[in-house]
Amino acid sequence: MNGEIIAVGSELLLGQIVNSNAKYLSEQLSHIGINVYHHSVVGDNETRLSEVLAVACNRSDLIIITGGLGPTKDDLTKETVAKFLGRNLVYDQETEKRIEAYFKQRDRTMTENNRKQAMIIEGAHVFPNDHGLACGIGIKADVQIIMLPGPPSELKPMFETYVAPYLGKQLKKQAFIESRVLRFFDIGESQLVKEIDDLLETQSNPTIAPLASDGEVTLRLTVNGDQKELNRTLLDETQEKILQRVGKYFYGVGEESLFHKLVSLLKEYNKTVTTAESLTGGLFASEITTIPGVSNVFSGGYITYSNKMKMDQLFVPESLLSEAGAISCECAKEMAKNAKAKGKSDYGISFTGVAGPDPLEGKPPGLVYIGISSEEKTECFELKLAGSRPNIRGRSVKYGAYYLLQW
Ligand code: ATP
Ligand code: MG
Repeated sequence: MNGEIIAVGSELLLGQIVNSNAKYLSEQLSHIGINVYHHSVVGDNETRLSEVLAVACNRSDLIIITGGLGPTKDDLTKETVAKFLGRNLVYDQETEKRIEAYFKQRDRTMTENNRKQAMIIEGAHVFPNDHGLACGIGIKADVQIIMLPGPPSELKPMFETYVAPYLGKQLKKQAFIESRVLRFFDIGESQLVKEIDDLLETQSNPTIAPLASDGEVTLRLTVNGDQKELNRTLLDETQEKILQRVGKYFYGVGEESLFHKLVSLLKEYNKTVTTAESLTGGLFASEITTIPGVSNVFSGGYITYSNKMKMDQLFVPESLLSEAGAISCECAKEMAKNAKAKGKSDYGISFTGVAGPDPLEGKPPGLVYIGISSEEKTECFELKLAGSRPNIRGRSVKYGAYYLLQW
């Protein structure tokens, strides 16, 4: 069964709200084995909605329309679909009773407009709304059309409770579409694609889709089949093949970020970390503290932006700053080592460098030193990053997390 989703609402076209219903419905439909091939957005306008409907009916088996089922004048989904199909609108007694009960329970008066919400298209299947007034409507013609209310708080429970089982019954054989996201760091998208080029070319189940964002690359593996166990095995096998080539850069699966991973690893080994930040101005500390439960592993941090603060707070010797400079491996190591000692932590991590746009100490923007210190040793990593100031700072802290993960 091929599905498509039409979201109705001028506020979507004006950019005032995000079309999260389409995202939600696409995910849900894929879980029950319905392929979604198109998303459309159309304003609250009868002519344009009819045009979109005509196109959709020519190419899809199932059309889900969201929004425009309310009581006001601009809500015209039901009316437009009824006209499009040449059917009448009729009162649905069950829905009318529900609406009356809704108002009675809240001790409010029901208006004529609200009564309009009890109207359905002749011959339709009704999906009750347990969280609002507008019922969902399903029509089985040559093409199946299902209309759902716009508010996600009504649409989601209605879909899960009533629509998904209704559609599930119609599918002869249930297919399962499952995805797994593999996350990589310290490798560019083009290099990663080059390493697995032949797999990308030849693999069709699972498919492999690369995506680069925020200095990271992910691969989304998507498998489609009617046996859950087999799907899992196919995903495992493909993951294995990929990691044989680029496992060195792999750090996690799913929504887990570098910082999630770092916090869970520190927790597992019962280790703590203290930060010393110059160019990143506390960004590493900020990122790590977005992870719940971090208090067991993060002692705290120093923001030592000026040389004076580096000397006063972290005991970086004046001679080091005048000879090697603040932007140096020597300084990064000293900061990490002393942060670890002062914070009484297992690890110290430091960041010093040039965030740009101008050079500093005669050194170019993007030159960054990360120091890591543990009981056994203290090391420094040099980065030569390109990009804007936020970019350089953001990537620096991700590299910091990555190096500490690998320590
Ligand atoms: P109501 O009875 O609330 O008028 P409705 O079915 O007529 O419901 P709309 O008027 O189109 O739906 O939208 C109501 C609200 O639902 C919007 O203001 C918006 O907050 C939310 N909404 C509508 N469509 C979407 C969408 N595609 N994605 C996310 N939210 C949406
Ligand atoms: Mg409305």
